[in-house]
Amino acid sequence: PVHRSTEVQEARLRLPILAEEQQVMETINENPIVIVAGETGSGKTTQLPQFLYEAGYAQHKMIGVTEPRRVAAIAMSKRVAHEMNLPESEVSYLIRFEGNVTPATKIKFMTDGVLLKEIETDFLLSKYSVIILDEAHERSVYTDILVGLLSRIVPLRHKRGQPLKLIIMSATLRVTDFTENERLFKVPPPLLKVEARQFPVTIHFQKRTPDDYVAEAYKKTVKIHNQLPEGGILIFVTGQQEVNQLVRKLRRTFPYRPVKDEKPGEAAKKETKAEELAEDPKEQEFDMKRTIRNIRKTKKKFLSQISLPKINLDDYKLPGDDTEADMHEQEDEDEEKELELDDEEDGEDMNVDGETSSSGQRQPLWVLPLYSLLSSEKQNRIFQPVPEGCRLCVVSTNVAETSLTIPHIKYVVDSGRQKTRLYDKLTGVSAFVVTYTSKASADQRAGRAGRISAGHCYRLYSSAVYNDCFEAFSQPDIQQKPVDDLMLQMRCMGIDRVVHFPFPSPPDQVQLEAAEQRLTVLGALEAPPSSSIDPKKDLPPEVTRLGKVISRFPVAPRFGKMLALSHQQNLLPYTVCLVAALSVQEVLIETGVQRDEDVAPGANRFHQKRQSWASSGNYQLLGDPMVLLRAVGAAEYAGSQGRLAEFCTTNGLRPKAVSEVRKLRVQLTNEINLNVSDVNLGVDPEMKPPTDAQARFLRQILLAGMGDRVARKVPLAEIADKEERRRLKYAYHCADMEEPAFLHVSSVLRQKCPEWVVYQEAYELQNGDSTKMFIRGITAIE
Ligand code: ADP
Ligand code: MG
Repeated sequence: PVHRSTEVQEARLRLPILAEEQQVMETINENPIVIVAGETGSGKTTQLPQFLYEAGYAQHKMIGVTEPRRVAAIAMSKRVAHEMNLPESEVSYLIRFEGNVTPATKIKFMTDGVLLKEIETDFLLSKYSVIILDEAHERSVYTDILVGLLSRIVPLRHKRGQPLKLIIMSATLRVTDFTENERLFKVPPPLLKVEARQFPVTIHFQKRTPDDYVAEAYKKTVKIHNQLPEGGILIFVTGQQEVNQLVRKLRRTFPYRPVKDEKPGEAAKKETKAEELAEDPKEQEFDMKRTIRNIRKTKKKFLSQISLPKINLDDYKLPGDDTEADMHEQEDEDEEKELELDDEEDGEDMNVDGETSSSGQRQPLWVLPLYSLLSSEKQNRIFQPVPEGCRLCVVSTNVAETSLTIPHIKYVVDSGRQKTRLYDKLTGVSAFVVTYTSKASADQRAGRAGRISAGHCYRLYSSAVYNDCFEAFSQPDIQQKPVDDLMLQMRCMGIDRVVHFPFPSPPDQVQLEAAEQRLTVLGALEAPPSSSIDPKKDLPPEVTRLGKVISRFPVAPRFGKMLALSHQQNLLPYTVCLVAALSVQEVLIETGVQRDEDVAPGANRFHQKRQSWASSGNYQLLGDPMVLLRAVGAAEYAGSQGRLAEFCTTNGLRPKAVSEVRKLRVQLTNEINLNVSDVNLGVDPEMKPPTDAQARFLRQILLAGMGDRVARKVPLAEIADKEERRRLKYAYHCADMEEPAFLHVSSVLRQKCPEWVVYQEAYELQNGDSTKMFIRGITAIE
């Protein structure tokens, strides 16, 4: 029996799904596969696992719940543990870098990537009695694959007399890819709709669509707070940096004064300062405005080009699908006069910064950030009571679209934008782009305003833009991302014909072929038989032994290969460290990252030190990766001396990334110790920099992993025009790209500009109206 507190009891009773417990459980008991669709906030994620627990599903085996986002896996496990009054050892979570799962775990929240890895070693998922795939409407790559795999695992478990239940949960009713897909489920699974009370939300479009939506969001929020009745405000922008920027600005405008008798100015100053320290303003975001159109411009020459872009295993974000929110649209000219914001474009009552001089008089605004990299304690503040007399204001990325429901929201300010990492299907060149969301996403965001009473959504774009530029739905991730690691994993699971796999929406044939080709070049798949009379000719190439080893590591296949090659010369500790550092994004803060290559000297104040890390003796052989290796090694040492924060500040490292690298090092080290009998690795905080000989071997290993990302310097001597020579000073030809790519300003090899190099990443930056390709993470081939 579960003993819940009265407070929890009351909160539960308000959730729509609670009224349906009996029907939900009957349907689940009678059917192997069930789809549950219900408006965000109806209680699916927090309540369904509890229903199952109370119905006895955790008695002998576990209840597994997958989430596409790490944030959700952690937050939901904590919430459910709290509601059920159970310790975290029983309601636990597991994500790529961490977890608190124990042998006593009954309900296990995990990222979808984690469950996929588990299937590789335990195909029948024998430890689970039920699997819930949450947020299926997000269409993350791994959730899609899990749906396909589980469609086969469930009948197999049934045959063995150990039935497994599958529950697919979605915030929208757009589930036909799952229900009406005969290859997936011959008998369409029953669809349970959770009726949630949704109040009407009035949509206000802007007359114009400003480019600076962050400034616009600020103005709109100031107006809402000044002019409209009480109710929380939820603002959607695209990334961490925008969130922090807006949070700071709003806090300055409407300072929160915790103690009455303090002088207003002082308190405000104190608050801002404490917060700025806490949010770590130095934390830079990889915030680049690039467009997919520009990538497409880069012509591709060969399909055979091999590249394996990094896939973030755990954090997919795609806008949601449908919404059932009852909305009536309105242009800015609104009949409800009392709720009409006076929308003078330039707001005379504001000074340059948009701050009012009389801010001391205002009702305080309780401004909280929300994004996936925020620590879970800070994320949790959105659920805590708002201080007396304050209005709640949450500035969020699209995490708040469907994964986390923020209480008390009445006003939504929607930038209409989202940030996505887009990949070129063939070349693997990636770009972070800010694009318009889909209509479905916009409606989902608006719906957040109608949970407690009638609400309002202010869209920072015109209805014309909404109609003409917003796609109805966003494409499933699997049709947009490279599938290399997925292909390898599926092949290792014995799925030979990935083409015939029951994908809810199959990826492009071209994409599958390109992935297969890259894996073959990497040596993970057998080279195809050359003889055309070979009877096995239309069997797909076998996974090699190397491929099997590679697939065990929770990193991109090219990094897996580097690990697999390192079993000599005591190289493993270094490769582990290097691969961990290369797998985590943005370990080093780059101050010049958003500009053109010709940033003012000194713009990157860490450059000198980084140069010195990579330049002594044989270290220069490794180039930029050496900087990473030494930075992480030194950070680890500083950490063991209790000086990590200081070290990160003075050397330009992101502390959170450093800790992720550490966790990944531990995980990779354990994996190696388990699989290679004659090594016993540890993670040594005092790892010495590699010797000269080791540095040379490391370079070979690096080249073996990056063999397809080769670039050659543009021969300047052959260029007559002086201007052109200057323009192309740092330019390189990459195998499959027509346009030259430029050595990024952060590279320690910029002075040398070696003729042949390999690079970790090629990407594109927007620079005014034009775009420019960059390569970075450079190692010279000599
Ligand atoms: P769904 O999965 O259907 O979107 P959830 O189960 O996530 O719904 O949320 C149900 C309710 O639980 C929401 O009202 C949400 O605000 C609340 N909730 C979730 N996490 C917490 C928390 N940590 N503290 C307080 N309330 C929470
Ligand atoms: Mg949910």
